[in-house]
Amino acid sequence: MPGPDIAAQLTAAEALCARNGARLTALRREVLGLILCANAPLTAYQLLDQLKAMRKSAVPPTIYRALDFLSANRLIHRIERLNAFVSCAETGHDHQDAQFLICQQCGAVVEMEDHGVSAALARAAAARGFSPRRAIIELDGLCATCGRADTAPPPERP
Ligand SMILES: [Zn+2]
Ligand SMILES: [Zn+2]
Repeated sequence: MPGPDIAAQLTAAEALCARNGARLTALRREVLGLILCANAPLTAYQLLDQLKAMRKSAVPPTIYRALDFLSANRLIHRIERLNAFVSCAETGHDHQDAQFLICQQCGAVVEMEDHGVSAALARAAAARGFSPRRAIIELDGLCATCGRADTAPPPERP
């Protein structure tokens, strides 16, 4: 059962879809709920496995159609490098530019929307006569928690 936080996010998602003239059906809502509950990106097959616990008849196209819908309504992002999905941290933003910080140790992904980064990229591209349409950046590294563990001094020997 999703927690109160997830429930509020699902309600917000439903309202956003309604504004787009789309309907967050029970199935789409379940898939979004699974993505919201996860603390790391989920692949389509991981989602399918979890969905099958609720809907025995779920097949790959079920999940792919739901993921297409959720992406089109800007509720989730696909992390290309991992071929997996995360919920959007800020519903309704323009999904043509965003940055993702991917922790290689714990697998956590944080969405960052630094408009300074996008502006710098757009300027650099324009200087080369290039007009970017989409600027999704995926950074690999260590999150704050894993980074701290990594630099901590080794335990003292007895
Ligand atoms: Zn987003
Ligand atoms: Zn980490």
